[in-house]
Amino acid sequence: MLFLPLGATEAIGASCHFLFIEETGLVLDAGADPEEDGLASLPYFDAIHRNRGWYVDHAIVTHAHHDHAGALPLLIRAFPHVQVHMTRATRDVVDFTLAASARLQRRKLREGSTTEEPLFSEEDLDVQSYLYLTHDLEKPFDVTGLRGTSKIKGTLFNAGHILGSAGVLLEFEEAGAPRRVFYTSDTNLRPQTIIPGGSYPDAPIDVLILESTLGADPEAEHTTRKLEEEKFLAALQRILDQGGVALVPVFALGRAQEMLALIDQFKADGDLDEDIPVYTAGGMRAIADLYDKTRFTTPRLDSDFQVFGVEQKRLPRTEKGKRNALQGPCIHVLASGMMFERTLSNWVGQQIIEDEKNGVLLVGFAKEDSPADRLRAAAASRNGSTTPPDVILDAATGAQPLRAEVQRFRFSGHSHRRDLIHLVGQLQPKQVLLVHGEEEARQWMADNIRFFYPDIHVHLPVWGEPMEI
Ligand SMILES: [Zn+2]
Ligand SMILES: [Zn+2]
Repeated sequence: MLFLPLGATEAIGASCHFLFIEETGLVLDAGADPEEDGLASLPYFDAIHRNRGWYVDHAIVTHAHHDHAGALPLLIRAFPHVQVHMTRATRDVVDFTLAASARLQRRKLREGSTTEEPLFSEEDLDVQSYLYLTHDLEKPFDVTGLRGTSKIKGTLFNAGHILGSAGVLLEFEEAGAPRRVFYTSDTNLRPQTIIPGGSYPDAPIDVLILESTLGADPEAEHTTRKLEEEKFLAALQRILDQGGVALVPVFALGRAQEMLALIDQFKADGDLDEDIPVYTAGGMRAIADLYDKTRFTTPRLDSDFQVFGVEQKRLPRTEKGKRNALQGPCIHVLASGMMFERTLSNWVGQQIIEDEKNGVLLVGFAKEDSPADRLRAAAASRNGSTTPPDVILDAATGAQPLRAEVQRFRFSGHSHRRDLIHLVGQLQPKQVLLVHGEEEARQWMADNIRFFYPDIHVHLPVWGEPMEI
């Protein structure tokens, strides 16, 4: 079989992989690069068009995050006959997130923050949604192409990452020999607060396509969820006791709902005052609704829990209303997770960081030099000095003295690297293809797989370079 990465493998960019198996063309994920606009954000679909023997019969979308599903409308435009498979929950979420992406692209062009024309409109999406084929977890379905010479069976497994997320098992015969390929996508072996840990196929498999997001993060494996929860609670209590505002910047899909669930637990256990207001806003509220609607039909730790069981106030839209909502003690759970400019978490951050009674609690991945990372770096530079360090959250506002508390917690939706190495041991693949990680992360994973399992062939696939596996 042939494997060709069409999107980034050496970064958290657009996830998209092409497989050509016994005359069937398959695409795993159709992500867009969240850091780019327009055509530059897309996977390299042209690589398939350029080879006359290749085509796409089926695509499987593992979950609704933008870096895995954001280019789906363009995949369908490029290959109109493609059949698109996903879980039912992912379809519900994708319907919402792609429409939000269409609106955002239009808004960016209107506001002048990009010169790129929107790649698709909400009208395009209405037509497409009917094409998606949905499947239950662990129920095999057929993904053999029209010209396929070998039957290919696909099966989805709970990936433990966000609502609807799945890993993909492909089973087929190649040259008369049975083969099994498993794509983890973004995966989490351990339970979060709402979603239980991932499930995986029985060993052995032939080829494991493995994510490596946290491969360069040694700290993640040195803490436990329990310890992080205790630290997070202590920080909240400290800030709220002094009448401050606790800002928790989050990704709207996944992290937001998990953090609200955790805050709910603290309140239910009496660790936080029931009456402390929790403010939320925007798309995360619609997504929370989808989490609640699917609570009996998707994997849960507790099907009775509802994200909207946590009493939430909608952050007012007006400037005056927003300012009134900054009377502590209160908690703000707001996007974006990396506090990008012109988002609510960035705006609230600007209002609260100059006062020492407030705090910003960072709970997700923040790439280098994002506003959230600049805040973390400024706080780390304090070193006991009494002069507050300066930080720029938005260049338009300029530097501000940072007096508020800033802490970072590890509540990732991804497995840490030791768990991923453990998963390799469990699945016993003959080959591992490392994707979805920065260079240092993939290298650490490669070195450790080779050390612990010297018989396994480890590959670091390169964007645009086909390989026979
Ligand atoms: Zn993801
Ligand atoms: Zn991802």
